[in-house]
Amino acid sequence: MAIDALPPLREVIAAHGLSAKKALGQNFLLDLNLTSKIARAAGDLTGADVLEIGPGPGGLTRGLLASGARKVLAVEKDARCLPALAEIAEAYPGRLEVIEGDALEVDVLAQLRAPVKVVANLPYNVGTELLVRWLTPEAWPPYWASLTLMFQREVAERIVAQPGTKAYGRLALLAQWRCEARIAVTLPPEAFTPPPKVASAVVHLEALPAPRFPADAAMLERVVARAFNQRRKMLRAALKGLHPEIEDVLESVGIPPTERAEQVSLEAFCALARALKG
Ligand code: SAM
Repeated sequence: MAIDALPPLREVIAAHGLSAKKALGQNFLLDLNLTSKIARAAGDLTGADVLEIGPGPGGLTRGLLASGARKVLAVEKDARCLPALAEIAEAYPGRLEVIEGDALEVDVLAQLRAPVKVVANLPYNVGTELLVRWLTPEAWPPYWASLTLMFQREVAERIVAQPGTKAYGRLALLAQWRCEARIAVTLPPEAFTPPPKVASAVVHLEALPAPRFPADAAMLERVVARAFNQRRKMLRAALKGLHPEIEDVLESVGIPPTERAEQVSLEAFCALARALKG
C-alpha cells in the first residue's frame, strides 16, 4: 500500500541522478513499508519533532512524515539530494525543514521543540561519533527523548551488550548508563541499494530521567575508555595511570584488581568512577 502520493523512490533517484556515493556512506532504503516500520520503532511521533541525519532521497523522511511527525528537521551533506527533499517538503507543507551541512558541525538545537526524537539511517562513517556525542552531554536528561538509529549489526550488538561478552565495552556502558537500549529491527544487506557488505540493525534508545547509578560523566568515560583500551589486561594494569594506589581503590569498591574490564558491571564501573573522583 502506498504511504503517500509521491513517486516511488527508484523514480526519484533516477530523476535526480542520485547514484550512491560510497564516501558518504550512501546505502539507500527504497522500500517505503520498511522505512515506515523503522519510523514506527521510534514510537508515537505525533506531537514530536524528529531530527533525521542523512535523509538522502528521503525514504525514511517520508516514513516519518506519513507516521505523523509534527515536524522533521533533516540534515544532509549531499547537495544533490536537496531537490528530491524539496518535493517531499512541498507534499507536507510546513512539516519538513532541510539543512544542508555536516551533521558533525551544524547546530540544530535552536530549531527543535520538545519532545524531540532522533531517527536516522546513519552514514556508517559518522554513526558512532554521533551516537557518542548524543550519549555524553554533561547535563541529563538530554534534549532528545529517544534515539532510533540504524547501524551495522555488529555496532548495534555492542550498544546492547552485557558483561562477559566480546561485544561488551565502552558503547554498551555509555548507552546503558543513562538509556534503555534494545535492538528493534534487523535488516539483511539486500534491504539497501546498493547492499552493504554486512547486516544492519536499528537500535532504539530511550533516555532515562536520571542515570541508573550516580557517577561523574567525565570520570566514568575516562575509566571506561582506559579499561577497554587494553581489554585483555587486568584492571590493575589497564588503569595504572589513573591513581597511584589503583589496586586499593579497586578493592575498596569490591572489584578484584586481577579482573578484566569485560567482567565488570555498569554498577561497579560507576562505583569505581565515584571512588576515583572522591
Ligand atoms: N536516509 C536515507 C535512507 O535511509 O535511504 C539515506 C541513508 S544513507 C545510509 C546516509 C545518508 O547520510 C546519505 O544520504 C549521506 O549523503 C548522508 N551523510 C553522510 N555523511 C553525512 C554527514 N556528515 N552529515 C549529514 N549527512 C551525511
